[in-house]
Amino acid sequence: MQNISITDTWDNLPHHLSTQGITAKSAVIITDTNVAPLYLQQVLAVLAPHFALHHHIIPAGESSKNFAILQDILVACRQSALDRSSLLVALGGGVVGDLTGLAASLYMRGIKWAALPTTLLAQADSAIGGKTGIDMGGEKNLIGTFHQPTAIYANVAALKTLPQKEFISGLAEVIKYGIIFDGRFFDFVQNNRNAIAQRDFAALQDIIRRSCEIKSHIVAQDQYDNGFRQTLNYGHTFGHAIETLLDFKLPHGHCVSLGMMCAATFSRNMAGLPQADVEKIRYLLDFFNLPTALPQGSGLTPAAIAGMMRRDKKSRDGGITLIVSHKIGSAEILHNADAQHVQDAICAIF
Ligand code: NAD
Repeated sequence: MQNISITDTWDNLPHHLSTQGITAKSAVIITDTNVAPLYLQQVLAVLAPHFALHHHIIPAGESSKNFAILQDILVACRQSALDRSSLLVALGGGVVGDLTGLAASLYMRGIKWAALPTTLLAQADSAIGGKTGIDMGGEKNLIGTFHQPTAIYANVAALKTLPQKEFISGLAEVIKYGIIFDGRFFDFVQNNRNAIAQRDFAALQDIIRRSCEIKSHIVAQDQYDNGFRQTLNYGHTFGHAIETLLDFKLPHGHCVSLGMMCAATFSRNMAGLPQADVEKIRYLLDFFNLPTALPQGSGLTPAAIAGMMRRDKKSRDGGITLIVSHKIGSAEILHNADAQHVQDAICAIF
């Protein structure tokens, strides 16, 4: 956690970067078309006294996670004459972070990068842990590397401008941390749901800090995702399949919400999660207006979702790997989940 600053101003950014040992003289800020008009000038202003600065703006949205945009970023690095001691800065949500981290891991075989996450999902989740990536052939994060950001600076004040559907998308990941790791944190989110829904600064700071602590703790034990880290995928194997089948039209966290309802149902059926816990999860997701059932006319079927899940990166020899929970606050990995039981659990969202 020592490289993460959770704050309400851009002013302390240069200090945070220097305390993390960043001595770069030049930097390129990568941001997107929605974030640039809101925060780019402010970040340029605080960093300009310390760096020779350039910036590069990519189109907002998941569809930017592709080879062409990655190449554009690398070309921008070269045109800005970045060298091995330079810095890349990701100013934006998970899309900007995943692309910038990947570019930083590739440019001159790897340079430092700093994450300035501006969505709740990025502040509470994606900026931590060093996974980078782009999509390929309609499959999420198929291409990527592990490359930790040297510094993470989360300005919670930036969440004020976040569209509501993106805000609740991040809440799905926050709720996930309670389910997989910390039942008391789940209760905290439940008890403070009104303040969180109103984007009260103190409440947001609390949930972002605890989410970062939990993710950092899990990643520290399994940086390269060979075991324990996979528990962070609770609901995601279902969710990624839904996201892909819906052509990325539903935000990531909304698909994770649907996936967590499937995972909770599967956990109840196969791992003894009490029905009362399933209802607590459903209540909290419903409270924040996260989907717990697929929209009418989605065109999906349980069989299609289960089929797509078999193509997940975590599946082995065609068998589905799932994260199950026997009570809120705990999670374990289950390999080769029974296909019929998976499909039965998916029926919960139809
Ligand atoms: P995003 O980056 O697309 O941001 C969502 C939308 O909000 C975009 O339109 C963006 O322009 C806009 N936006 C960002 N900050 C804003 C602000 N402060 N005010 C107004 N608008 C703002 O999506 P996301 O939900 O942040 O991230 C999703 C991505 O993160 C997915 O690609 C997912 O695969 C990835 N992800 C990565 C990890 C990881 O460990 N690397 C973990 C989870 C998710």
